[in-house]
Amino acid sequence: MTGNTMDAEEILRLKVRLLTEGATLSQDVYAGRKGGAGPVGGRYFILPNGRSVGIPIRTGAQQKIFNSATLVPTDDPTIWLYDDSIEMKVVPKPRFYDLKTSDGISYSQIALLHGDRTLATTVYQSCRYWSHGTQCKFCTIPLSQRSGATMIEKVPDHVAEVVIAAEKEGLIDDVLLTTGTPESEDMGIESLIQVIEAIRKVSEIPIGVQFEPPVDRETIRDIANAGANAVGMHIESADEAIREEMCPGKHQYGPLDLYKRSWQYALDYFEKGHVSTFILHGLGEDTKKTLSLVGELSEVGVMPIVAPIRPSLGSQLANYEPTYAGQLDESVEFYKEVGKILFQHGLNPKGTVAGCHRCGGCTPIQEAYDWAASISS
Ligand code: SF4
Repeated sequence: MTGNTMDAEEILRLKVRLLTEGATLSQDVYAGRKGGAGPVGGRYFILPNGRSVGIPIRTGAQQKIFNSATLVPTDDPTIWLYDDSIEMKVVPKPRFYDLKTSDGISYSQIALLHGDRTLATTVYQSCRYWSHGTQCKFCTIPLSQRSGATMIEKVPDHVAEVVIAAEKEGLIDDVLLTTGTPESEDMGIESLIQVIEAIRKVSEIPIGVQFEPPVDRETIRDIANAGANAVGMHIESADEAIREEMCPGKHQYGPLDLYKRSWQYALDYFEKGHVSTFILHGLGEDTKKTLSLVGELSEVGVMPIVAPIRPSLGSQLANYEPTYAGQLDESVEFYKEVGKILFQHGLNPKGTVAGCHRCGGCTPIQEAYDWAASISS
């Protein structure tokens, strides 16, 4: 099946299905790919609408719980077949992954391609809530550093070096910087600013940054002045009971009110749709609360990045069964409601220059927006 044969509703359903049910690889493909540069190692695919999707790969009991369909290679190494019928293009491995800094650090330990056009890095690869034992239950932030895949803190000039290489290769349209929260009072923002400044010395590429909300307007202004184009401060759930259960440290530090104030400050410095927040779906939340917050945020111009929770190995939710499991129709209807709200307020993710919603590999909000646009015309 190709993009020409799928309408906006079918594309939305496909994206929601891929993000919630995931896919399973045959045993031999899985064994061959484990730890390698294949889909198991975090590669992305391109949907028939040309947008990227990071498909969760599920095996064994997980595959049954999530009802995951198969994803198999074809004779053409650039194409995989999902559920025996839908062709998915593999995002090729960037050539810059093979390069190293002058001090011998592999570029792929510094930043990775997310989706097909976004370069992303975690500037500080640890978080105070892990040392307090109150980390978010879905979080895996220290694990890639412990496994040697990356380092604890990125050097600003190294990140800038990778940006230059990725731009030269013609691969990226935007950069995304995220951070765990250190113990320091600045919430890691000083380091983010240093990285933004290093990139700005060599490139005009749009930059999105994500951090836990600071309390003052000046900090947000400093991030804008350093050259960032978008900011994300992630509430994670619109349902306070779920936030308390799933993100104990973050919930205790940051009441909803702090987030609301910080989003509002950010809107003074960043354009509509360039201030964003993640809102997870499938944690047992009251979805009416989710839709109500999505409405409230969209009205003021904050982009709600609604995304299905992805239970990850190594996190406390590794064996968690999300409430969306087995509920595909319900999930599609839920995202249609999100799409209608975004469309009503003119919040088109594609109309922004940076932020997680630009990549869109983990969220179906672009497809939901496109569906809502299609029924209005
Ligand atoms: S705030 Fe939560 S999700 Fe973010 S790095 Fe810390 S523990 Fe992980």
